[in-house]
Amino acid sequence: MGEVRQATADQAAFRDELIQHGLFIASGVPGLYGRGATFEDIRNRVDARITAAAQAEAPESMRFPPLLPRKQIESIGYLHSFPHLAGSVFAFEGGEDEALLQSERADRHEDWSEFQRMTELALVPAACYPVYPAVAARGPLPVGGVVVDAGGAWVFRHEPSEDPARLQMFHQREIVRLGAPEEVRTWRDDWSERGLALLQSLGLDAERDRATDPFFGRGGRMLAANQRSQELKLELLVAIAGDEPTAVASFNYHQDHFAAIYGLAQHDGDVAHTACLGFGQERIVLALLRTHGVDPPSWPAEVRRELWGA
Ligand code: ZN
Repeated sequence: MGEVRQATADQAAFRDELIQHGLFIASGVPGLYGRGATFEDIRNRVDARITAAAQAEAPESMRFPPLLPRKQIESIGYLHSFPHLAGSVFAFEGGEDEALLQSERADRHEDWSEFQRMTELALVPAACYPVYPAVAARGPLPVGGVVVDAGGAWVFRHEPSEDPARLQMFHQREIVRLGAPEEVRTWRDDWSERGLALLQSLGLDAERDRATDPFFGRGGRMLAANQRSQELKLELLVAIAGDEPTAVASFNYHQDHFAAIYGLAQHDGDVAHTACLGFGQERIVLALLRTHGVDPPSWPAEVRRELWGA
């Protein structure tokens, strides 16, 4: 296990409260929790609100497993930008002798990684990643481009933390826009406002800000500066626990980054641009629980109406 980020007293108290009330089910590993029925009910209702907000665009629905071909995270340069967050799947490929040694080590909870070999699989770190090659494989985009709803997919980030809002595996509701540069950027900007209104309708004190991705290392600082100056990433922030507000949604304009990798073209052959939005579902649920309390029946009537309809 990598280095574990410690929680503030406030974050630790909130995590304990979530576990006490059966909202989170502890696993013994930081950032990895089961979810109780109440938590899942809220998450699914938030998901339905996002579905309703997207309905006018009639997005094309695609669903992918929480694994993707390792080649894809290699092609998009994920290991340059976020080597610290990636998760890859290894599996056993030995004979009987190695199997015995491996199981003996495992019985003692010692390191058995030397018996494991890399597979062709990696864990999905962002729910939009499988969308770009899937759409590119169909050929040029139709006139007006494409909107894809990738659903509320499980994603993995290797960042063990005691902060209950920083999970190693969580649901990201992603919608992706592919098309002409100006229509893609406008879509991204419009959605950041629609997302802000959605969170505010749930009684959350949300604000929008320019943001950067957690790029790795010295080279990453340049990427982040460029991302900020060009306003490529917008985030919606809500206070959950701790000293800083937490990002609960992001709206990302990739320019031609994915198009160049996968050969995404517009109907007339010009290069396409892409944007995506991602709602961090668990973080939105946590923000609701923190703002309105851990007992949803006692939430404000207007918030209950938005989510439960009564
Ligand atoms: Zn995305």
